[in-house]
Amino acid sequence: MQNDAHAHHAHAFEAWPFEVPAETGVFTTRQVLEDGEPVREAHHDADGDWQFLCGTTRDAADLRYVCMGCMLERDATLAVVAHLPVEWTASRGSANEPWVQAPYAGGDAT
Ligand SMILES: [Zn+2]
Repeated sequence: MQNDAHAHHAHAFEAWPFEVPAETGVFTTRQVLEDGEPVREAHHDADGDWQFLCGTTRDAADLRYVCMGCMLERDATLAVVAHLPVEWTASRGSANEPWVQAPYAGGDAT
């Protein structure tokens, strides 16, 4: 797992929707960052961590740890899920579809 993206960014959003700071680290995938895949799954873990995943890979080698503000700059529609409760998942089939929110099914969230 790479954890080398912890540079401090000075994000200045006019309206930051999340309860955690914009500089908070979040997991995404290589496919989102490099291949242009949309975020199709947003997970809000019990420990407060967020994951913005493409849904095309479950390989830990594809995980990337990035700045949440950078993710919002990449895809402003992530703001829609900002108030997702912990242990809930929001999913969608594509970037143009609405988010569907549901609680974690099996408690296998970490
Ligand atoms: Zn950033």
